[in-house]
Amino acid sequence: MESVAQTAAKLLSRGAFCDYCLGRQFARLGHGLSNKARGRSLKITLLLEAAKNRDTELLRLLAENGGLEEAASLIELKTLEKPACSVCGDLLSEKNMNEIVEMVVQQLQDYEFETFLVGASVPAAVRDREDSLRSALGLSDAEDIKNDVTREVGRLLAARTGKKPDFQHPDITVLVNVFSKTCRVVSNPLFIKGRYLKHSRQLPQSPWSCRKCWGRGCPSCGFTGREYQTSVAELVGEPARRLFKAERYKFHAAGREDVDALVEHEGRPFILELNRPRLRHIPLKAVEETVNNEAQGLVEVRFESLASRREVRLLKTASATTSKTYMLKALYENDLNAEQLRKIEEFFKNRVVEQRTPTRVLARRADRVRKKTVYWVEARQVSGREALFKIHCQGGLYVKELVTGDGGRTSPSFAEFLQAAPSSLELTVLAVETHA
Ligand SMILES: [Zn+2]
Ligand SMILES: [Zn+2]
Repeated sequence: MESVAQTAAKLLSRGAFCDYCLGRQFARLGHGLSNKARGRSLKITLLLEAAKNRDTELLRLLAENGGLEEAASLIELKTLEKPACSVCGDLLSEKNMNEIVEMVVQQLQDYEFETFLVGASVPAAVRDREDSLRSALGLSDAEDIKNDVTREVGRLLAARTGKKPDFQHPDITVLVNVFSKTCRVVSNPLFIKGRYLKHSRQLPQSPWSCRKCWGRGCPSCGFTGREYQTSVAELVGEPARRLFKAERYKFHAAGREDVDALVEHEGRPFILELNRPRLRHIPLKAVEETVNNEAQGLVEVRFESLASRREVRLLKTASATTSKTYMLKALYENDLNAEQLRKIEEFFKNRVVEQRTPTRVLARRADRVRKKTVYWVEARQVSGREALFKIHCQGGLYVKELVTGDGGRTSPSFAEFLQAAPSSLELTVLAVETHA
């Protein structure tokens, strides 16, 4: 079997190798060594062999293709002509990487961050050279050249800034190309988890364009392009975006309520995603205060903690497993029958309801049947014609239709018991439970 040193000598006979590129071909051998140290050690080992065997051929190879000064002086080579590394063209040098790191540090000045991750791009030509070398010599202990770049740049950057690498959720991703001497800094999104209350019956959850002009502006919307002046998303997202100096924001909520529904009590969970923030250390209490002040009572938020992209996914897919609690004020044409209200309470205990897509959303959604569970109902007669319902049900249930029956499209319904649909309905969301 060929020794590691013999393989290294073979490599050197094919062309010039810097310490990094020679060492990298044996990266999986010996832990805790950098490829640079590995490459240099191999060259020294070969130097000792050559000196012992008075192998001037090998000494010359080490001097020229290995760029080893010690070998040059042993054969009294006055001027050492070092060709550039046949793999990286000598661009994988400490000097070059230090320069890149300085460029990165310049760009990072604009950002507050604690952790970073380095990514590297490597030209296809460099990759191809290395691949053909590996298949020709059957090198099975080599590693990707990207690792050398990311490790070295990461090490230098950590030393230079005092910040830590994080491979899971870095604040900043640094992309470098040591071959074209370019770099780019990307500030990763910040996620803030919280709950909101909505105190207005004229406020949509997300921006709503004018139905007539679709946002272009027309007489009917007073040339604002809007159906509603603002939204929960904007009232929460905009002040936060400004404070964190982010470029954009996305408002992710656990489900949505009708424009005319209030959200009270425990509120609705949401996650605010801030894209490319420059600042990260603003106390959530301060952000909360700013949002609540500027929302002037339309919306109230409570920020709980920072969150992750994974939690956003859970929030979005949670609708099937969430439960909700609503308060509904219903006004009827005629006096209500207390006995029937009691029967509603009794009947709607873990009761499965079949709902065809409500008439009011049919234009936007496919007509299909949903089966959702009503866990419990509290029905109270406020006055002769007015009832207050507290309803705890599975997420995704159309609660207005549970009361009105939607012309028989929802069944069983309260209307079936009362022989009447209410003439007006006011909905308030009290709690949204996600099992995320
Ligand atoms: Zn090299
Ligand atoms: Zn318009």
